[in-house]
Amino acid sequence: MKYVDEFRDAGLARGLAAAIGREAAAGRSYHLMEFCGGHTHAISRYGIPDLLPANVRMIHGPGCPVCVLPVGRIDDAIAIARQPGVILCTYGDVLRVPGSGRVSLLKAKAGGADVRMVLSTMDALRIAEENPDREVVFFAIGFETTTPPTALAIQAAQARGLSNFTVFCNHVLTPSAIQNILESPEVRELGTLPLDGFIGPAHVSVVIGSRPYEYFAEEYRKPVVVAGFEPLDVLQAILMLVRQVNEGRAGVENQFTRAVTRDGNRKAQRLVAEVFEMRRSFEWRGLGIVPYSGLRIKEAYGAFDAERRFAVPGRSVPDHKGCECGAILRGVKRPSDCKLFGTVCTPENPMGSCMVSAEGGCAAHYTYGRFRDHQNAGAA
Ligand code: SF4
Repeated sequence: MKYVDEFRDAGLARGLAAAIGREAAAGRSYHLMEFCGGHTHAISRYGIPDLLPANVRMIHGPGCPVCVLPVGRIDDAIAIARQPGVILCTYGDVLRVPGSGRVSLLKAKAGGADVRMVLSTMDALRIAEENPDREVVFFAIGFETTTPPTALAIQAAQARGLSNFTVFCNHVLTPSAIQNILESPEVRELGTLPLDGFIGPAHVSVVIGSRPYEYFAEEYRKPVVVAGFEPLDVLQAILMLVRQVNEGRAGVENQFTRAVTRDGNRKAQRLVAEVFEMRRSFEWRGLGIVPYSGLRIKEAYGAFDAERRFAVPGRSVPDHKGCECGAILRGVKRPSDCKLFGTVCTPENPMGSCMVSAEGGCAAHYTYGRFRDHQNAGAA
């Protein structure tokens, strides 16, 4: 398959891994965070840690859209879904994220709420058109990649005069999360999270471009390499980061030139700016309240804002006791550090959001990495 097979070539992968092994200087370590859940999944799926020398360590970041939704927002969505006449639509993974008391949207559906899985925002619009006597709410989540389709749906609903369609907006912003991590006490004061550079997200960067990362690279002296999702993309990005660190550089480089430009998709950016504006703050699982990190619907489209139409509890709720998702999303712990990992908590029975989506650190680790972990533990 064009643009896939040639980025999975085993011989080239071995060559890149050997180059990383040669160039990663002995006597120092390289702590590289992959921000995006898509990279977390690719790194686990293709066994990339096994190809790296011991002094190059990958750290999962908070870029899994399902994982960063806090318990309180799940509770809010469930509260909306339980209101009479409501059909709540959202993407598949979101349905299984546990809220308070381990009640998920799927459990709410089993209890009688009309909750439906959709594959796109346009599916939700169609459901609204087909059910004019019901209130259809789209539970919108995700980073900059999924925001333009939500904006498009809101504009389409306005153009079609759909008064029974609203959006419960939970879209969040990548640059704010990266800044939050760089400003965290673990990085700045305690030194418990050494960070030498970032693999920048692929799909998000298609939309926002590579320019927004230039600030971090310059201000915090952390190199960023935007990378695609195939194994050779990731290995090449790691090599590019190792080289920057060795040369004392901290710039933004683009490995994913086949899809990402410096300025991104201007049309998508304009669309988002027409419909959404920044919230002063937004709660993230793991990161807490992050200033200017989430979007809300502008007044001009207020008729399509579920938070204006429905009463929601709006409470901040702590994670399940024993769940380490928060620390994993901050890069401070690994999935295998959680006592519930692979025993009480599995993809079939997730206790926290990181075990739900394929992009979650715990789910990726459970699916592709746990046996390796056990082998390593046995060898040690
Ligand atoms: S294994 Fe489960 S309980 Fe533990 S951190 Fe991951 S999602 Fe949370």
